[in-house]
Amino acid sequence: IAEFDSVALQSAVDRAYDSFKNVKEGANANYIPILDEVPSDLFGVAIVTRDGEMFVAGDVDYRFSIQSVSKPFTAALIMAQQGPEAVREKIGVEPTGLPFNSKVAIEIYEERSGNPMVNAGAIAAVSLVQAETEEERWELINDNIQGFAGEKLQVLEEVYTSEYETAWGNRAIANLLFNYGRLYAEPEEALRVYTRQCSIGINTRDLAVMGGTLANEGTNPLTGREMLPARHVPELLAIMATAGFYDESGAWMFSAGLPSKTGVGGGVVSVVPGKFAIAAFSPRLNEAGNSVRAQRAIRQIAGDLGVGLYGPN
Ligand code: GLU
Repeated sequence: IAEFDSVALQSAVDRAYDSFKNVKEGANANYIPILDEVPSDLFGVAIVTRDGEMFVAGDVDYRFSIQSVSKPFTAALIMAQQGPEAVREKIGVEPTGLPFNSKVAIEIYEERSGNPMVNAGAIAAVSLVQAETEEERWELINDNIQGFAGEKLQVLEEVYTSEYETAWGNRAIANLLFNYGRLYAEPEEALRVYTRQCSIGINTRDLAVMGGTLANEGTNPLTGREMLPARHVPELLAIMATAGFYDESGAWMFSAGLPSKTGVGGGVVSVVPGKFAIAAFSPRLNEAGNSVRAQRAIRQIAGDLGVGLYGPN
C-alpha cells in the first residue's frame, strides 16, 4: 500500500503502545466470572495490511477469548452462504442504541433482533447458519473464524464453561427470539454454539489478520482464501460502523471514523477499507463494555495515519 511505508505503520503502532501502556482506567469484565482472572495489564497492538504485512507492539501473542469480536465474522458467513438480504430480513441492520445484551431491544423491535453485532442478532445469526446438526453448525462457524484468522484456533474451555454456566441473560434472549419467530434453531442449541463461538481463543495478531481479510476485500491476505465475496464487504462494514461499539457506536464513529468491533474479552478490531486493519487488546473495559486502552490506541493510530473514513481525524 503505497501511501503508508512500513516505517510509518510501525511507528504509529509503537507510539500507541507507549502512549497508553500505563493507563489503568476501567475494569475487566466480571459478569463472566473467569474474565476477571485475565491479567489486566496485558496490552497488545497490531496492524495487518491488505498484503499481509504485520506491525506489532506489546503482548500480541497472549490468547484471550474473542467474545463479541466474533460477531461480524459469523454475519459474514451468513452473507456468504445466503446473501446480505438474509441478514437484513431475518436479523436486521438497525443499531439498537442499547447495551449489547439488551432484552428491551427485542421487545421494542418485535419484528427483528436488532443487528448481528449485539447478542440478540448474533445468537440469531448462529441459528441461521444452514446446518443439519449442532455439530455441523459449530464446525461451519469455527472453520469460518479460523479462515478469517488464517490459522487453527482452540476454544478456551474454561471460558466456555464459565460463560455457559452463567448465561441466564443470553438464554432469555434466545427464548424471546424464538417466541417471536426470530430464531432459526432450537434455543438451547443456538445458545451453546453462540457461547462456544465467543470462547474461541485468539491473540492480537489473529485479530488483525481477521480485520485485514476485510480490508483486503474479503480474502485472507496470508492464505489467499476468499472468506466473503468482495461485493458484500461494504455491507458488512456498514453494520460494523453503525453498531460495532454497542451503545457507543455513534461516539466511536464520531471520534475514530472506522468500522470496528469490540468484545468484552478486551479485543477491538478496526478496518481501513482497502488498506489495513488495526487490532488492539487490553482487558480493562469502560461502562459500555469497550476496552479502554484498545480504543485509545486505535483512535490515535487512525489519527496519526489520517485514515478516518470521513476525513483525517
Ligand atoms: N459472550 C459475551 C456475551 O454474550 C459477548 C459479549 C461481548 O463481547 O460484548 O455476553
